[in-house]
Amino acid sequence: MHVLVLGGGVTGLATAWYLAADGHRVTIVERNAGVALESSYANGGQLSYCYVAPLAGPGILSKLPRWLTQAHSPVRFRPRADIDQWRWLLKFVRACTQAQSELATRRLLRLSFLSRELMRDLVTRESSLSFDYKAAGKLVVYRNEESFASARHLVDLQRDLGCEQRVLSPRECAVVEPSLSALAPKLAGGIFTPSEETADCYKFCTALAELLGSRNVQFMLGTEVTALRARTLGRASRISVHAGGREIEADQVVLCAGTASADLLKPLGLRIPLYPLKGYSLTARIGERGAAPRASVTDFDRKVVYARLGDRLRIAGMADITGRDPKPDPARIESLRAEAAQAFPEAADYGLADAWCGLRPATPTSTPIIGPTGFDNLWLNLGQGALGFTLALASGLLVSELIGGRTPSVPLDGFGLPA
Ligand SMILES: Cc1cc2nc3c(=O)[nH]c(=O)nc-3n(C[C@H](O)[C@H](O)[C@H](O)COP(=O)(O)OP(=O)(O)OC[C@H]3O[C@@H](n4cnc5c(N)ncnc54)[C@H](O)[C@@H]3O)c2cc1C
Repeated sequence: MHVLVLGGGVTGLATAWYLAADGHRVTIVERNAGVALESSYANGGQLSYCYVAPLAGPGILSKLPRWLTQAHSPVRFRPRADIDQWRWLLKFVRACTQAQSELATRRLLRLSFLSRELMRDLVTRESSLSFDYKAAGKLVVYRNEESFASARHLVDLQRDLGCEQRVLSPRECAVVEPSLSALAPKLAGGIFTPSEETADCYKFCTALAELLGSRNVQFMLGTEVTALRARTLGRASRISVHAGGREIEADQVVLCAGTASADLLKPLGLRIPLYPLKGYSLTARIGERGAAPRASVTDFDRKVVYARLGDRLRIAGMADITGRDPKPDPARIESLRAEAAQAFPEAADYGLADAWCGLRPATPTSTPIIGPTGFDNLWLNLGQGALGFTLALASGLLVSELIGGRTPSVPLDGFGLPA
């Protein structure tokens, strides 16, 4: 079977990987000159298998006024004259209940645990893949008692779901991660999860693309998909793909176009609640003194993550619900720089760090959309939001299982096209 994968980010590449392993002829269509140059380029590098709780949670709504008014809050909201933004927000607000948040967490954990298994299997089988992959655990630190207390509550829930985690005092945090010594006195405590991993998503994508190329997967780079058009053939309802000025023939099509997916689906009458959440990262060379974290560290109250990627420190954070403009806001970059300099002052020269911003393809519930559409040959794999790197392998495997007519490795409930 010939399968077209639309989008060459981490989701599309992982999808192609499992489709090719099933023996299909696979072509990846990507508008940029290379793979992973959009959201998958310089993300936080977290393979965050146990930290999957959605942004929409019971404590979030009380924070909304602060997001609207403060320039430096970790989440920022700016209302736009954009019906899609308001629709998304309405659904987001509806999802801010304890019950919905726990349901989404359970569903996402199934997917992330499968991804963890698949990643370990992949790095064992494909030892040539080089992408700064490290399993050094993750330490989430809390600056205030209230957030630490609710995190401890979540540890109990997550233990029942299969996450191994340790609750630590501020002093214990500095023992697990000595580079935290400057921050430790300001902490209420931390939670350490030994099974978490980090890696460079862009390096992962380029290494995987090389392997895919060696396995006869075709790449149509610099080719923009301009339209998906519906056509009816007898009883079958199919779509055709228009890209690079022509129609491309294929038996099946998987849409993995990240934040651009919603606009491609609209003309087919499919409205999906997908909105870009803009985030930022800095990548700094670790200095001579090397006082950078070895484990991955998350500063929970500031919503900033730190990952050591080889000899570089990746710092990422912020979620701006401010529109579709992909350009960075220099003030947000400076505020991330200031956070890093305060948390790990000796780790790097942050003035020299490379700054980046990207758009997370987010659904209101933080659960991705994976599976069939009303069209016989169109499948979706999108909306992984803040967890696209973490969930890529499992999401890709599920799509290949569906296309191959097999039972998915984890139940798909909650991942279908929203009504
Ligand atoms: C600041 C930040 C930090 C993050 N940190 C983490 C983290 O630590 N861990 C984690 O798991 N996730 C993280 N994420 C989320 C993760 O990066 C994304 O979920 C993931 O990259 C999405 O991958 P994707 O392949 O779905 O989308 P993309 O990487 O955006 O890929 C979609 C591709 O489709 C192509 N495309 C779009 N439209 C067309 C078209 N019309 N024709 C042809 N091609 C098209 C695009 O060019 C793009 O290459 C972070 C995101 C951000 C912004």
